[in-house]
Amino acid sequence: MANPRSSRSRRANKHKRIGLRWGIYARLSQDKRKGTDDEEFNVNNQVRDLTKWIHERDPEAEIVEIYIDNDIPASGRMTKRKLRKRFNQMRADARDGLIDAAAAWHLDRYTRRPRELEDMLDIHDEHGMLWHCKTGDIDLATSTGRAMARMLAAWGAYEGDLKVERMQLTFSNYAEEGRAHTGGMRCYGYTDDDTELIPHEVAVIREMREWVLPPNPRSVRSLCRMLNERGDFTTTGGMWQPTSVVRLLTNPRLRGARTYHDEIVKENAFPRVFTDEEFADLEAYFGDPERHQAEPKRKSLLSGGILICGKCGNNLTSQPSNSKQPGYVCRKTNKGVGCGGLRIQAAPTEADVAAKVLAVYVSPKVRAEVRRRAEEQADAGSAEQLRNLRERLAELGRERARGEMTKEAFAAAENYLTREINKIRASVREAQKLAGLPRDLPMSPAALAEWWTSEETTLEERRAVIMSVVDHVVVGPTLRRGFNGFEPDRLTYVWR
Ligand SMILES: [Zn+2]
Repeated sequence: MANPRSSRSRRANKHKRIGLRWGIYARLSQDKRKGTDDEEFNVNNQVRDLTKWIHERDPEAEIVEIYIDNDIPASGRMTKRKLRKRFNQMRADARDGLIDAAAAWHLDRYTRRPRELEDMLDIHDEHGMLWHCKTGDIDLATSTGRAMARMLAAWGAYEGDLKVERMQLTFSNYAEEGRAHTGGMRCYGYTDDDTELIPHEVAVIREMREWVLPPNPRSVRSLCRMLNERGDFTTTGGMWQPTSVVRLLTNPRLRGARTYHDEIVKENAFPRVFTDEEFADLEAYFGDPERHQAEPKRKSLLSGGILICGKCGNNLTSQPSNSKQPGYVCRKTNKGVGCGGLRIQAAPTEADVAAKVLAVYVSPKVRAEVRRRAEEQADAGSAEQLRNLRERLAELGRERARGEMTKEAFAAAENYLTREINKIRASVREAQKLAGLPRDLPMSPAALAEWWTSEETTLEERRAVIMSVVDHVVVGPTLRRGFNGFEPDRLTYVWR
């Protein structure tokens, strides 16, 4: 079964398109910043240049967001500190339909990681997102462009590895000798020369550990809030962010070890804050992939496929009104998706959905059913299927390379396999959603409502509960002319 939206957008890609909503992506990698001003890669120059370039291509372009990641190599091992937040945000925005096209200096500004490239291709297929690069323009909408991008990404990963090796040569000697090589900020809890502990900060670090771990685990976000409100700031006097807390609590220095590129190079190099056992608990906790799934990614509860336009079937996305009132709208895009003619207020809609969903969710029968489905989905053998399809895709590439296949046959087969892969991925995502449901939710309506409204509950957890019982909610047009407000009759629930 073809995905109607992706084939529609592919058709639309053939036309020259104007009036798109653009995102600009720029990234400055560490090695460049350490050198002097490298004109070409200066972020401001990149943005200025890309802005001009976009307006040349698309005179009616609307540049809605500029995404800048700084100081973070796109290749190499992805430690938590290397997570490229803005790139992730841009992909999320593309999925949410907030941007139609992106521009970056070169493909390798977006990513040098083949896996992330595949994700970009998925976003293109599923949402019609156009990924542009100014230099060496690569059209990800064509199979040739895709092949080229995949090759470049593979090559980029190799280059990135080489760079890491070079840096290792330069710095590993220092690291082994036990000297700091960063010359950067001091680590929280330690004096400037790393030889002594600062008692007050050590107490705060120990408090952090107790805050996030059982028996009474609370979110990292709430920990940051508490510290910032109390006035316990970072070494630079800044506010704590979840990433800085996680980075600190997973730094093996806290158990005395020096690391280099995530590898321990020297034990007992620093005074200890934690015993090995205490630190191991933290590592285990933050290394748990399920924890990351629970981190909130979206800003709105009902976007991304829960609310559906009753006029055209498009997903509603969140957008404040002119008077800054939060709302959900059907966006008209240039891809032929969306009628742009429907809006509903966010707060009463979210309240209505929450009330109806929780009312259904308190039933033990419903919960048992949800659990059963989660187990069924997780066990669909999709990993095996994915492996087979990928292998066929690779074989296809080899046949094409040996000249055993025409370009057209190759493109058709590739298209088919890619679609199949996307289908399986969608079902895997579905399973993950169900698996992401918080366990042991309270049974009574009152306790459940309390859980729902608690600050500790994340948006993703609320979404998981909604999606476990609701397939989607159709928002009908209002019957009163010119009235865009909330009427309960406008919502039609489609239960699972
Ligand atoms: Zn619509």
